[in-house]
Amino acid sequence: MDSKLDAELSKLDPAVPFRASSTHLHHTWAKTFYSRPELYIRPHSLEEIQKLVTLARRCRRRLVMVGCGHSPSALTLTSSWMVNLDHCNRVLRVNEEKKTLVVEGGIRLRDLNLRANKMGLTMPNLGSIDEQSIVGAIATATHGSSTRHGLLSQSVRSLRIVLANGSAVRCSATQNEDLFRAALVSLGALGIIVEVEFEMIAACNIEWDQSLHSLPYILDRWDKDLWTTKEYTRVWWLPYMRRAIVWRADKTDKPLRAPVDSWYGGSVGFHTYHVLLWLSNYVPRILPAIEWFVFGMQYGFSNGATTSAVEELRTGLLMNCLYSQFVNEWALPLHKGPEAIARLSAWLNGDEAGSGIPFSSKGLYVHAPVEVRVSDTSPTSPRPFLDNTAADGPTLYLNATLYRPYNRDPPCRDRYYEAFEWLMKQLGGRPHWAKNFEFVSPAELKDMYGADLQSYLRVRADVDPEGMFVGEWHRRTILGADVPALPLEEREVRRRMMAEGGQMWDGEQRHNNNNAGNGDGHGSGAQTQEGRGRAQATADADKDKA
Ligand SMILES: Cc1cc2nc3c(=O)[nH]c(=O)nc-3n(C[C@H](O)[C@H](O)[C@H](O)COP(=O)(O)OP(=O)(O)OC[C@H]3O[C@@H](n4cnc5c(N)ncnc54)[C@H](O)[C@@H]3O)c2cc1C
Repeated sequence: MDSKLDAELSKLDPAVPFRASSTHLHHTWAKTFYSRPELYIRPHSLEEIQKLVTLARRCRRRLVMVGCGHSPSALTLTSSWMVNLDHCNRVLRVNEEKKTLVVEGGIRLRDLNLRANKMGLTMPNLGSIDEQSIVGAIATATHGSSTRHGLLSQSVRSLRIVLANGSAVRCSATQNEDLFRAALVSLGALGIIVEVEFEMIAACNIEWDQSLHSLPYILDRWDKDLWTTKEYTRVWWLPYMRRAIVWRADKTDKPLRAPVDSWYGGSVGFHTYHVLLWLSNYVPRILPAIEWFVFGMQYGFSNGATTSAVEELRTGLLMNCLYSQFVNEWALPLHKGPEAIARLSAWLNGDEAGSGIPFSSKGLYVHAPVEVRVSDTSPTSPRPFLDNTAADGPTLYLNATLYRPYNRDPPCRDRYYEAFEWLMKQLGGRPHWAKNFEFVSPAELKDMYGADLQSYLRVRADVDPEGMFVGEWHRRTILGADVPALPLEEREVRRRMMAEGGQMWDGEQRHNNNNAGNGDGHGSGAQTQEGRGRAQATADADKDKA
């Protein structure tokens, strides 16, 4: 490999660096999956990105883009070449009238908001965190919680993508529309998204309050005003207490006001819950008591207890996601919510017959809270082909979170997730692309997405016919057996449990099985390539064909 890479590098412009190292250990945020890419490449410019694509094509390598690895699934694992755009994080252009910023694809949401704030602008909506890269976030249909907002990608006005042939192509609702619709939720399988034009709103504060309610109260208000009285609303359901915390926020002109400090709310509560979760891995039946104690201490033991604050929009929507976790989140029509929650509640509380879920819940105990959020993408046009939300009305997201205390898997996972996914499928749900869904076949996804999945696959095949951006995760989900194996596609060869928890993933490409098994800490050959680049020859596709 080394000599091939050297030979190909020598044909390209030495003035354009190829910044790669062979010692990178990649892992997901939750440390559930690890992999050792053969090369970890961190370009600083469009020219460097086009050069690395040319090299990958000539060296017959799969490319995997990674933002900050916050996707909980195996989506970003590779033993081939991994590319990260953290150094491509500039704001390129601002249009104050349209409130749009054109940014490079590696910018993190936090930095985007900080820089936009200096111009009096902010992102209109966020999920629970702002650490993701802008492209990573849109690639998996990341969402917040508001019936007045859709996916984060709803604010994307145009994109620029470097394709497998090295060309940099622009797309929008009016230019290359199919490519735009595929790229809005790309799953990393189209090419390298290098620029994003994003529409902001005027920077503002939000006033939020959160209060504890009984589950019957939540279900009763569901179709009335639960999701509509305020712009942003999310619910944390406590399944054994049959209660829920409702968090609601509206934009405000009021000055910042911090929430009242509670002695338990900070590190005491954080560590207490962590230790108790760890104990529950050995004695699961204590989980209902843990839920009562931990959430009572944090949010109060009686219904109606309330706290409130005024924060900037860019920080007020965020939350502390606590510990390593599995997350299994599904989108379903909002009106299915009461049925979904009532049936899951019955199942978790031992009423299997009443739940209509054909799996045993005997001796099974789960973690709280179950996250309940919403969006409404129905006004969005054009829609991403792989948008998992309802097209004709608001969407509910149910997120079955399972913590991994001190990186140790909880015992209930397989049975809980099999039953949960069965219920979600029965209610017309579709899984969040980034998360840990496990019981969904390519045939089921084909049914769920119909012609939209076919359109996505057609665009994908057009722009990446050799499968330079395709891996095992794509094969197991969207490609299935219908799409023939692709020359550069990477497949999984093994997973090993790590002593410290999590799995080490090894892959290989069809044409080159020497690439597998480099999980021993030495990579599979290539030396550090920092700043490398010799001789002159110009790349055959190192041109902007936009
Ligand atoms: C603590 C935590 C909280 C979260 N909260 C939410 C939430 O509130 N709502 C929600 O919907 N999701 C949430 N997520 C999921 C998260 O938003 C998504 O997994 C998101 O995709 C992660 O972004 P990333 O930058 O880490 O991308 P990665 O996970 O690194 O990559 C995601 C995908 O984007 C592709 N990609 C990355 N960069 C590029 C590029 N430049 N060009 C082409 N493809 C690219 C990758 O190949 C991959 O397919 C959360 C995750 C964590 C860990």
